[in-house]
Amino acid sequence: MLLTSFIKPILYFTLSMATAQNIDLDNKIIPKNIEQEALEALSFYPELAETAIEFKFKDNIKKSTMQAQPRFASFFKRKENREYVILISRNIQIEGERFTMDDIPSDVKIGWIGHELGHVVDYSHRTNMGMLIFGLKYLFSSAHIKEVERAADTFAIAHGMGDYILKTKNFILDNADLSEKYKERIRRLYISPEEVMELINENKVHEEPEIVGEKD
Ligand SMILES: [Zn+2]
Repeated sequence: MLLTSFIKPILYFTLSMATAQNIDLDNKIIPKNIEQEALEALSFYPELAETAIEFKFKDNIKKSTMQAQPRFASFFKRKENREYVILISRNIQIEGERFTMDDIPSDVKIGWIGHELGHVVDYSHRTNMGMLIFGLKYLFSSAHIKEVERAADTFAIAHGMGDYILKTKNFILDNADLSEKYKERIRRLYISPEEVMELINENKVHEEPEIVGEKD
């Protein structure tokens, strides 16, 4: 008891040194083999420090590799107390091709997680009723899917993860081992690497200080 209360602050200190951010690990559950990538991605989202998120491996996820969703048991809590689960597919099966998470480069995984955390930020602004309507629309409207996927990437880029998002997109689109059908779906529903670059540049413009007197 005494020992754990002693070790915990040291552990916190070491981790916060490593990631240059305070990550409240009391409310994050991260499997060991994705820990480094998850912590790196989380370090871009200080606003999620108070948000409970569990990263969880699943054998297969239909049509996707990772999926962020509110924890069902927390659904009727206030949105400030809502908890999230990010499901990660252990096997990535895309029309016959088989990958595992371990085959994917670390930076690509960081980008992937960054995109999912973008969804969490998006969800965190929605009311419970809003989330319900959101879920239904996602099932039936591809225009809505596009809008939501764009929002997740936009949040990730605005949080400084543009280069990682770009790596993840290029990994998918330039990957000869992935089927054309899968890549077509990605092109149809997600923003392109060119649009990511545009958003990165827009963010850079916003970061530059305004020159007083030159605005019209
Ligand atoms: Zn997404």
